[in-house]
Amino acid sequence: MKTLSVQSPVDGSELVPIEISDAAAVDAAVSRSQEAFASWGTTPVKERVQPLFRFKHLVEDNIQELSELVTAENGKTVGESEAGIRKGLEVVEFATSLPQLGRGGLLEVSRGVDCYERRYPLGVVAGITPFNFPAMVPFWMFPLAIASGNAFLLKPSEQVPHTPVRLAELLLEAGLPENVFQVVQGDRTTVEALLDHPGIEATAFVGSTKIAKLVYERGTSAGKRVLALGGAKNHLVVVPDADPEITARNVVSSATGCAGQRCMAASVLITVGDCSKVMEAIETEMQKVIPGENMGAIISPAAKERIESYIDRAEAAGARIPVDGRNVTVPGKENGNYVGATLIDGLPPSNECACDEIFGPVITVLHVDTLDEALAIENANPYGNAAAIYTTTGATAQYFEERANAGMIGVNIGVPVPREPFAFGGWNDSRFGIGDITGEDGLRFWTKTKKITRKWSASAAQNWMS
Ligand code: NAD
Repeated sequence: MKTLSVQSPVDGSELVPIEISDAAAVDAAVSRSQEAFASWGTTPVKERVQPLFRFKHLVEDNIQELSELVTAENGKTVGESEAGIRKGLEVVEFATSLPQLGRGGLLEVSRGVDCYERRYPLGVVAGITPFNFPAMVPFWMFPLAIASGNAFLLKPSEQVPHTPVRLAELLLEAGLPENVFQVVQGDRTTVEALLDHPGIEATAFVGSTKIAKLVYERGTSAGKRVLALGGAKNHLVVVPDADPEITARNVVSSATGCAGQRCMAASVLITVGDCSKVMEAIETEMQKVIPGENMGAIISPAAKERIESYIDRAEAAGARIPVDGRNVTVPGKENGNYVGATLIDGLPPSNECACDEIFGPVITVLHVDTLDEALAIENANPYGNAAAIYTTTGATAQYFEERANAGMIGVNIGVPVPREPFAFGGWNDSRFGIGDITGEDGLRFWTKTKKITRKWSASAAQNWMS
């Protein structure tokens, strides 16, 4: 079997390599899932959620070990790893409430005729996840899929393959029957085997826009239900009445948290009018971000090189780089992949730094005179994950909320991730398929409904429909 090596971004050390699941291994995993689904799919929902209650507590009991595992393979700080796991657990909480939510409805639709709805699992389903949240993004998928009665196959990023294996052990310990949750490892070939397999009914994907689109097209043409979340380019807009200190701290933590490797990270900052106080405070805040101390690593040497090449080209195009994170080494972690916080200023909105997803701790600043100009730039970008405004005026915030072309909007919040039960999901090229990935849309995605219309009473008065 082919193996892939895995290096820690923290210091370049070798982690346990993974064995790639080829098409035959995927097929064998699907057969095991089908067997597991035969009884899991008909287990009542109140029973199905019991292992998830226990799982939540097991994750909490093991949170330090899990956070360190996420950090070792992803490179973010241990505090960030823990925050991601705890955010993911909110979806487990939501999934345990399915017996409360999934009751369905019943209505007497004609005299003596009831119509009611039953929700069914789809069967064997799959999730394909990115490197940047080794626990949280899988958590967006499997708790709802499993609680809904499906058997779930997870294909994590080949760059962070180990965390889900530990989650699988904890699910078993929590009492989930064997093979209701399985992990298959690999890269493109494994993804293609999953998308082409006729035994898999639905696939959720989270990753870059380019791959999201490919996965959506290949999966749907194989007859599957697919929801594919893609990349992002999030705009934060600052107006002159914004509080300089609060805004600066929030903007910088949005841009540099998880070393900028978040689909909700600030990527373009647009100042409207005179925001010089905010800009000064942002530069000061950015100097406090220290790679290897309060900011983690970049996933790979190739990603570090790509990020730095954007900064090089920005400089060559005449940008000012008042905070420059290139050529960083962290003492004792010389083989880790680090880029410092970077501020790029003075480029036109059409420059690649203001348009591409750089996916590093880099923020590109644009300056305009009016909020409408800022909105025009935000609206013109093809993505639609997040957008935020910093202001102390309600009417300005509301004007922005109504016009920003993104699925998740922040007001004085630079990472506007909705907390459950509000669902996570972007618009435009940040999402292919219908609906959000968590919340009630998640429940709808992993299930199908049957509508039953019945009449028992032969003596009831009749009308055209009875
Ligand atoms: P990626 O698209 O490179 O990889 C995602 C998954 O796709 C991985 O499991 C990978 O093995 C697989 N894959 C890679 N190339 C493939 C191919 N050619 N065919 C089939 N499968 C393939 O993404 P990444 O670099 O791991 O993650 C970062 C990206 O994910 C960023 O663009 C980020 O914005 C995005 N992301 C989006 C969200 C969201 O909610 N919209 C959340 C997290 C990350």
